Amino acid sequence: MTNKVLLIDDSRTQLDVLKLRLVKSGFEVETAENALEGYNKVFSFLPDIVLSDIVMPDLDGYQLCRLLKNNKLTKNIPVILLTVLDKKLDEFWGKKAGAQAFIPKTTDFEEIKTKINELIENTKLTSDDKEGIKKGAIRQVSVKEQINDILNELLKQSIFLNEFRYLGEFYTHEKALVDKCFDLFSTFFDYSAAALFFNVDDKGAKKNVYFDMRAISASQFVLEKMKRDFFKQMNFSEDFDLNSTRYDIVNENETGLEKIISPNALKTIHIIPVKFEGRLLGGVGFYSTSDIDYTEVKLYESFISELSALMKMKSLYSEVELLSVTDGLTDLYNRRHFELSIEREFLRAKRYKNDLSLAILDIDFFKSVNDNYGHQYGDYVLKEVAHLMRESFRRTDMLYRYGGEELIIIMPETSLENAYIPSERLRERIEANDFVFNNQHIKLTVSIGVSTMNSDYANQNEIVKAADSALYNAKRTGRNKVVMYNEQLDSIE
Ligand code: GH3
Ligand code: MG
Ligand code: MG
Repeated sequence: MTNKVLLIDDSRTQLDVLKLRLVKSGFEVETAENALEGYNKVFSFLPDIVLSDIVMPDLDGYQLCRLLKNNKLTKNIPVILLTVLDKKLDEFWGKKAGAQAFIPKTTDFEEIKTKINELIENTKLTSDDKEGIKKGAIRQVSVKEQINDILNELLKQSIFLNEFRYLGEFYTHEKALVDKCFDLFSTFFDYSAAALFFNVDDKGAKKNVYFDMRAISASQFVLEKMKRDFFKQMNFSEDFDLNSTRYDIVNENETGLEKIISPNALKTIHIIPVKFEGRLLGGVGFYSTSDIDYTEVKLYESFISELSALMKMKSLYSEVELLSVTDGLTDLYNRRHFELSIEREFLRAKRYKNDLSLAILDIDFFKSVNDNYGHQYGDYVLKEVAHLMRESFRRTDMLYRYGGEELIIIMPETSLENAYIPSERLRERIEANDFVFNNQHIKLTVSIGVSTMNSDYANQNEIVKAADSALYNAKRTGRNKVVMYNEQLDSIE
């Protein structure tokens, strides 16, 4: 069967010369004098290859190439762009448009012929493919509409990439990063629930997957199943213990949401582990109550590659963090250091029967500070609260940034009552403080839970848990207060 070449050039002479030579070499040739005419001929002539000039009035060669490559029917037809001047630049734009080759017009004809044959040989459009192109032609939307689609798609892609890069600001705050990621994911993907996991090595800490539950609410049973599915697909190499994993729900909004009580309601579960040099950096998952092929989502490929880059950066940051004892934002000791100190202080207090108290502080409605004034404002607030904290406690007390906006104070040799006093002082100071950043003034409050050493406690986690429980009680009973732990609090929950 003779191979068909579609030749497009706005210069009649160039067309004629090349056509003559191609015909002599046994090709069947059709010509067009502009890109639009050429594009339409693709559907009637059904070429095995398209050779096109780049510089033409109206649609140019790149645009023609994009049109062909963006169309499911014609994307497999090889395209050679014939360049005139700056081959490097042409090649760059041509590659972006999806062309297979670039050949200077001055190239020896034999060489052009070899390239044509090679590309046709490598592609081999079947007669079925061609039949599809012919049939599909009837259902084509106008070229103008197709170009608009392409432009929209490019715009979307560039916005998407920009947004992804912007996430880099949050590498150091996992919770904030997770928030931002989900906001971004949800604008590009349809899902009922999404999952995100960063595999940072945190000795002793549980592996935690975050679930974005903005579209559905799910029973605990379903959430457990989602977690299991997620970690199963992470393919941890070591003997991985599923019980040592947790989930954390983000964007929970129960009212008016469809509640999923059976895992079967989730028809699509798409989970992607992200690896780098054989190491698992983390993963992402999408769950949907309808059938969706996520790999078919337009920006899927870009999404995966950007996500890998993000996870690589996050993991590098975590490694650096691992080496330090202080938190970069507040200059307080970091969580890792806290874990070491509390263990040491606990053992010491237990051995010498000393007092030991702990206070956990959490800023009230902190999320709305970020939402209303921006993340930088939120960061400023954290720094300012850390500063007020230093002024309220004794030098021997140890101050830590425990989580995103949770701060902890270890007070050695301090009774519960004596821990309450500076905690209340700090609460009052914060309430009275004028927070000013970029000329914007706001008022803020905090809730604090205080706990103390109890000889029944088996390990340091119990004193932390007690303070947490008191904090929870403070939140639940109106915020802006200090609550001291006692056992009854646990039974109220
Ligand atoms: P509540 O009174 O119940 O504590 O309300 P909240 O809004 O403070 O509660 P939540 O714990 O849901 O919100 C904490 C927010 O803190 C979520 C996250 O965006 C933000 N956050 C965590 N770490 C940082 C950080 O380092 N910088 C900034 N700016 N925000 C952070
Ligand atoms: Mg919090
Ligand atoms: Mg809070």
